[in-house]
Order: sequence, then structure tokens, then C-alpha cells
Amino acid sequence: MAAKKDYYEVLGVSRDAEQDEIKKAYRKLARKYHPDRNPDDPGAADKFKEITEAYKVLSDPHKRAQYDRHGHAGMEGADFGDFGDFSQDFSGFEDIFDMFFGGREARTSRRPRRGADLQYRMTLKFEEAAFGGEKEIKIPRIENCPDCQGSGSQAGSHPETCPQCGGQGEMRFRHQTAFGSFVQTRPCDRCRGQGQVVTDPCKTCQGQGQVRRQRNLKVNIPPGVDTGHKLRMAGEGEAGPNNGPPGDLYIVIEVEEHPIFKREGSNLYCEVPISVVQAALGDEIKVPTLEGKVSLKIPPGTQPDRRFRLKNKGLQDVQGYGRGDLFIKARVVIPEKLNRKQKELLEEFARISGEELNPEQKSFLEKVRDAFGV
Ligand SMILES: [Zn+2]
Ligand SMILES: [Zn+2]
Repeated sequence: MAAKKDYYEVLGVSRDAEQDEIKKAYRKLARKYHPDRNPDDPGAADKFKEITEAYKVLSDPHKRAQYDRHGHAGMEGADFGDFGDFSQDFSGFEDIFDMFFGGREARTSRRPRRGADLQYRMTLKFEEAAFGGEKEIKIPRIENCPDCQGSGSQAGSHPETCPQCGGQGEMRFRHQTAFGSFVQTRPCDRCRGQGQVVTDPCKTCQGQGQVRRQRNLKVNIPPGVDTGHKLRMAGEGEAGPNNGPPGDLYIVIEVEEHPIFKREGSNLYCEVPISVVQAALGDEIKVPTLEGKVSLKIPPGTQPDRRFRLKNKGLQDVQGYGRGDLFIKARVVIPEKLNRKQKELLEEFARISGEELNPEQKSFLEKVRDAFGV
């Protein structure tokens, strides 16, 4: 086993370096040797491990003191953890790179990323929502270019290492100021942080690797969907940059109102007008359902606004828990105009019923008398 390098040497700092300095040195090296940034260099991972180990010791005052006194021998048996362990200190490597590249810009690296989720608003007719079915939609989305499989290079050619940044994807600038010298990094503008440039761009996508396409998709509408429901179509969102996984497509449902039916969950509500005579004498009437008209018996003496329940004539529950009910409200319509004959007959009706008012009104008036003593 090769002799271990001095931790200070590994990080390139002096033995009396301040914590800040150690941290800065480590970050700079971590960025440079991070395995994600050096996929083609197997040595980078070892180097990264080495600097991480050095940083773990030197950033801990207790461990550093021990190391200063006894060197590597003092570190025998110390647990340095692995990358995963270390990553907790920074709550993930992403953070490190965000710090270096100033957040968003860092995301132009060659790492595969997940494509964006898409949302599509779909308006359905009431019946379409009730019964479900298949519907075709057109969505514009970003897809991997079919001609270059997302590489951006014309068939037979390959992207080359960016000559401006040497494949690092970033440029460094040294600033000399009154407070000392600072190194600033920013994504390479030639390759936009990719580290590679396309020399013979694919004609279909102009070297972008991705194209915007109008795509026809079949959407399966489950019966019983309602306004505000979201259907997820996994993997039907936009293609992921650098051949990352695609995002999802969300279909947001909006259901049109029905001229007759109102819905609440899987129950349906509907008002049916009946005449005074039908209410008093009873009748058999036709009422609408989703599947067409059915007969409904109106019993004699039906009071206004009485509700009739037609079991399982509502909507399918979208989760598959059976069907709701249909509630029919009998709206008793009082005629607004009467011809002479009708008037006579009603007066006759009143006479036959006795000059008395109807029993219900009578008992109501009795209650009023009791309450007010008049
Ligand atoms: Zn292409
Ligand atoms: Zn470059």
C-alpha cells in the first residue's frame, strides 16, 4: 500500500491554514474531481475520496489536533465514512455545485436530468366524464431527436471535447484585488457548461439533441372523473436532457355542466316539474337518467319538492366503488293563469272541500292563535 499523502498537501494548504481556507480549498478540489464531472476518468473517484478524507480530518478541530501530533498514525481506526456519509455534511453534492456555479447555471452540465412534467387541460362533456372512454389529444413537447438519439451530432460523428474549457465545462478567472487573489469560475460559454461541442450538428435538431414535436396521445378516461381530477401519464412528459428520464404528463380534467343533471361526487340531482293535479292524484311520469328515460311513480298526495331516489342511476365512482344514485325532485308547478272554466272548477273544488281551508293550513292557523292569542 502506498504511503498516505499528507492531508495538508492533499488540500494544498499550509499547516496553519484557517478553517475557511481549508473549506475553500476542499470545495475547489471537490468540484474538480467529483466523479460525476469526470465520468471518463477512473482516477478521479480515488482522488475525490482522498481529498474528502483529508477534509474530514482537517475540518474537525479535534481530529486535526490529533493528526498534527501523530500524523496518519493518529488516525488509525478512524472512520471516514464513504461518499454517502460525507454528503450529509453538505446535504447532497448538488448543493456543492450550486454553490460553485451559482445555482441554476450549474444545471447545464452533462449530467442526465429528468425531463419536465407537462400539464394538459382537458374539457369533457358531461357524458364523456360519466362513462369514460378513450380520447385523443395533441400535445407539443420536447422529445429526443429521433435522428441523432439525443446526441446532437450528425450520424457517424461524435461530440468533441470543448477546446475552450478543455472539457471542464467551466472557465476560471483569477482576480487580483487589494484583499488578495480570488479564483472565480463560471460555465464555459462555448459549450454552455457541457464540456463538449458538437462539430457536425445533426440537421434535424440543429445540434440540440432535442426537438419540439406535436404528439398525438390516447388518454384513457376512467368513468366518473370530475372537474379538478388529475390523470397522470407516467413518462409522457418532456424528454430528459442528456438522455435523462422523461417527465410525466398530467391531464387536468374539467367537466362541462349538464343542462339537466347536477352532480355531487357520484350522485346525480335533477328536478322534474309536475302539475298540481299529478301531485294530488298521483301519476306515472317519465324521468331522465344517463341511460335514457325511465318511469317513475308519483304517489297521490305528493308534496312539493319531494325527492325520489333511483338507486344506482348516478355516476360510476371514479375509484371503482360502485355507482351513485339519482335523486329526482318533484317540483310542483302552480298554474299562473287559469281560464274561466278552470277557475270555476277550482272554486268548485274548494266548495266541495268545505269552505274550510285545507287541514294543514287549519292546524297552522290554530298554532298561530295559540301563540298570539288572537
Ligand atoms: Zn438530432
Ligand atoms: Zn467549454
